[in-house]
Amino acid sequence: MASGRPTALIVGASRGLGLGLAAEYLSRGWDVVATVRGSGRTGLHDLQEKVGGGHLDIETVDIAEPEQVAALRQRLSGRTFDLLFVNAGIANDPDETVGNVATDEFVRVMVTNALSPMRVIEAFDDLVTPAGTIGVMSSGLGSVADNEHGGWEVYRASKAALNTLMRSYGARHRKDARALLIIAPGWVRTDMGGPHAMLEINESIPRVVDVITAQSGKPGVRYLNYQGQTVRW
Ligand code: NAP
Repeated sequence: MASGRPTALIVGASRGLGLGLAAEYLSRGWDVVATVRGSGRTGLHDLQEKVGGGHLDIETVDIAEPEQVAALRQRLSGRTFDLLFVNAGIANDPDETVGNVATDEFVRVMVTNALSPMRVIEAFDDLVTPAGTIGVMSSGLGSVADNEHGGWEVYRASKAALNTLMRSYGARHRKDARALLIIAPGWVRTDMGGPHAMLEINESIPRVVDVITAQSGKPGVRYLNYQGQTVRW
């Protein structure tokens, strides 16, 4: 990888919003290390072929597997990143309630969406530059205050938990100069967002990157949507 360019580590970039983030940072002149799960070919490999030039490194990690997170941390020792962004996440059946969700499914969503992104941050934060940015992909559905209509009960709870854990991380690192960003990308047409979502990836992600860029160098935790507006906790 060329030196002298800012570098992002984007976790969960095989498709959807994470792939969009990788493409957007590359188009803005960044170097990108981005991750997929497993060994199959993904959209990220297509992107690497398209951009060429050695500016995109592809790594492998399942964030819900602590030994894989530790192994990736080991492989990236000695690297530094201006941005660490954990995008990986899953959704369950939005109609499932706490009345009927299986315990295993509840645990799967919580571990993937709340515990695992924070474990990645705990493992990789020392690779992020002192004035760098650490971000997670949350959701507007993670807002407790805005939950007027219900639905998506378990997913909402997982993103609310992620938000709270990020705030706790910020409280524990209150002397840290890094921006700690919780991003709500809008409802976007991806495998998760579905075909009826309001936004295309290219209507959300460039604005998300604008928001992250505008927050760079501003210490502390913020919960922001893709338009740069504060989301109610
Ligand atoms: P998506 O198309 O389903 O993509 C999810 C991405 O996360 C994939 O790259 C997937 O990898 C990765 N991932 C899932 N579990 C993982 C794990 N255990 N370890 C590593 N990677 C994992 O979803 P998306 O719409 O792009 O969503 C991306 C993020 O935005 C998620 O956190 C989601 O909750 C959030 N979000 C999305 C919307 C929306 O409307 N689309 C709205 C609000 C928030 P694989 O390809 O290997 O499965």
